Amino acid sequence: MERLSWDQYFMAQSHLLASRSTCTRLVVGATIVREKRIIAGGYNGSIAGGPHCTDEGCYMIDGHCVRTIHAEMNAILQCAKFGEPTEGAEIYVTHYPCLQCCKAIIQAGIKGVYFAKDYKNHPYASELYKAAHVTVKKVPFDDLIKLKLAGVQETK
Ligand SMILES: [Zn+2]
Ligand SMILES: [Zn+2]
Repeated sequence: MERLSWDQYFMAQSHLLASRSTCTRLVVGATIVREKRIIAGGYNGSIAGGPHCTDEGCYMIDGHCVRTIHAEMNAILQCAKFGEPTEGAEIYVTHYPCLQCCKAIIQAGIKGVYFAKDYKNHPYASELYKAAHVTVKKVPFDDLIKLKLAGVQETK
């Protein structure tokens, strides 16, 4: 069996994290990596101890659920909380980050954004990434990876 590439491995981790999401609108996971080491992870959900969308429904304002913190923000904040530098790190996300997360990613000094699915890709985000010299690459989480993961289970 072929080994997972680092890109596929970190993207698989983000998909695993996404399965912990508590917002029913979109299920997102993010993994922050520095020098091929996972330093933080997040999924979109309520603040710690807050009510979940899955229990009380989404809190909708102007077509957006405002109850949740995005996966990328949660991962960055985890680094802030535990004093882990994000300068020069990379982030693997299940979906193309929104404009707010894009700005937070750049401001945190993250130099690579890898996403599996296009999601309302904002042209201003791509402009900001370019200006900040952030590498942006699509890493599809395709059937090949799912097949490889299934292979891992079988050999157990
Ligand atoms: Zn929600
Ligand atoms: Zn976002």
